[in-house]
Amino acid sequence: MGLRIAVGIKWVPNNQAVRFDEKTGTLIREGVVSVVNPHDLDAVELALRLRDKYGGSVVAMSMSPPSATKGLEHVLGMGVDEAILISDRAFAGADTLATSYVISHALERLGDFDLALFGQETIDSSTAHIPAQVAGWLGLPYVYYVNDVEKLDEGQRSITVRRLLEDRAEWYELALPAVLGVAMKSQLPRPVRLSHKLRVRTENPIKTWSNEFLKLDPRCTGLRGSPTIVSKSTWTPEVPRRKQIIDGPPEEAARKLVDILFKEGILR
Ligand SMILES: Cc1cc2nc3c(=O)[nH]c(=O)nc-3n(C[C@H](O)[C@H](O)[C@H](O)COP(=O)(O)OP(=O)(O)OC[C@H]3O[C@@H](n4cnc5c(N)ncnc54)[C@H](O)[C@@H]3O)c2cc1C
Repeated sequence: MGLRIAVGIKWVPNNQAVRFDEKTGTLIREGVVSVVNPHDLDAVELALRLRDKYGGSVVAMSMSPPSATKGLEHVLGMGVDEAILISDRAFAGADTLATSYVISHALERLGDFDLALFGQETIDSSTAHIPAQVAGWLGLPYVYYVNDVEKLDEGQRSITVRRLLEDRAEWYELALPAVLGVAMKSQLPRPVRLSHKLRVRTENPIKTWSNEFLKLDPRCTGLRGSPTIVSKSTWTPEVPRRKQIIDGPPEEAARKLVDILFKEGILR
């Protein structure tokens, strides 16, 4: 039978590139170097491992402007079977509620999935809302910080997952279909392979789903469907410049540093 697994990935500005538009309170995404949200690669890897073990297929989904095609190509290069870019002007400016609304409807449209995997959080907004909200919209069981899937019971249509917390491990058995938030750094994401990349060129396995296809009420998507208001006090903080460079051999430099810290009242 195998598993039909959907994975949500987000195309994000890399850490160094994040800047705010102080007027609108939103991130400036134009002209910045973007990457697949690194924590989503853990979810992709877990999806691929499950597919390799139990059979089935993996579909990656990203709600984003068309620039995210590059991110979808990246995960196809890792071995994902197909990819869907969910993209429409009606989805722009979405907060997490409107984002999860669209993603959950896209999953519904996909129809026959057993698992929807997501990263733990993103590096550009880090709310960790999306997987929980998607599970809420769809009324599906949800566990986050999942480190591994330990067992699949195809007859009972259930899986057992393990999650690691600071002081303990926990095991959950969930009925399928289910939604999982995969713990960051829990997997070792496989590299992109040239043969998979070539498939992207020849077979073009990326579909685009616009709102003409999903037919969602535009009052529930994008900026109109977003109750969150970004405070006008959002700003890019000044990074304090180093006042001085302490050089010399390490022990001497450390002593000088301690003297300075005492002088400035930071150490007492
Ligand atoms: C008022 C407001 C306006 C905003 N306007 C914009 C805007 O114009 N453009 C914009 O890009 N962002 C905008 N945002 C940010 C937007 O809300 C988040 O980018 C988005 O909802 C995802 O939240 P997150 O990054 O915290 O994801 P998290 O909840 O931290 O993500 C967890 C996991 O969910 C999955 N995931 C998250 N986002 C997506 C996605 N888009 N597609 C597929 N999987 C996903 C990933 O697997 C990720 O690891 C706005 C936010 C607010 C509050």
